[in-house]
Amino acid sequence: MSPSPTADNVLVTQSPGVGASGIADQYADGKAAKNWQLYIGEQDGRTLNYKTFLLNLLKQKKVESILDSACGTGVDSVMLIEEGYTLTSSDASDKMLKTAYKTRWDRRREPSFFDWEIEEANWLTLPQDVRKPVGGFDAVLCMGNSFPHLLDDHGDLRDHKKCFKNFVSMLKPGGILVIDHRNYDYILKHGRAPKKNIYYNSKHISDIRTQVIYENNAPKQITLNYTMDVEEDGDFILSYQPHTLKSFTSLLKDAFGANANHTTYADFKRMEDEPEPAFYIHVIEKPGNKFNFNQV
Ligand code: SAH
Repeated sequence: MSPSPTADNVLVTQSPGVGASGIADQYADGKAAKNWQLYIGEQDGRTLNYKTFLLNLLKQKKVESILDSACGTGVDSVMLIEEGYTLTSSDASDKMLKTAYKTRWDRRREPSFFDWEIEEANWLTLPQDVRKPVGGFDAVLCMGNSFPHLLDDHGDLRDHKKCFKNFVSMLKPGGILVIDHRNYDYILKHGRAPKKNIYYNSKHISDIRTQVIYENNAPKQITLNYTMDVEEDGDFILSYQPHTLKSFTSLLKDAFGANANHTTYADFKRMEDEPEPAFYIHVIEKPGNKFNFNQV
């Protein structure tokens, strides 16, 4: 049920009961976590476009070991384990991880699920929280518009820079970071997030109410209020850092180096083929040749 429009709830930027400071776990009250399965549709409801894009990319880059650093309920990790990849999955929210732990338990008799490593880990402290394989991971994933959950508490993006450095440190030379964000340039221009979702087949989203908060004439935070057409109260609110494509790209380049191989996709297509995408997906490579590693 939607709240009635009183002054108190015009600017509701977090789920009730969740502290607004630090890197609060926006999923802590369990509401988004509970509705996430509905939001994303069935576990196998990943769109074919997404699955094809990701699997082709991983194959082309000869990836074997993967860190799914915002695994949430584990939807991508499960898909990738089923495709034969070695997965370490991490997330800062124990409420989200619950579903992943349960899946690992339910499927523990399958050796690949028995070997699945799951850790509660924050990107800000990733090297301390997650065991890195010798040499590093072939790929780090941070998908599902997860990274923009990290807000800019200090006004200089220092936390974002630290997280990117941590992603680099978890990768082996030649390894790739695959990271996405909504098209905030579009949201800032139109004041509305497109309902189109390239990842999920959910039939339950009836609206995404969009609020943009400005500070000193610059966009500071975007709040998306997901409304679902389910009988129980299915609404949930999440807040995001409105990264423009330009600023996000330059953050990536700062961490990986100006000469790092970097490709941006628009809704999984080439940029020129999709001028107004809902999401941007970045693939950036840690400089160095991963095949040199075993030769030294
Ligand atoms: N990739 C999954 C989950 C997306 S939801 C999917 O596409 O379904 C976004 C996830 O990012 C949440 O599970 C949230 O807990 C996680 N997250 C947010 N901030 C984080 C942080 N600082 N460190 C690690 N995970 C974080």
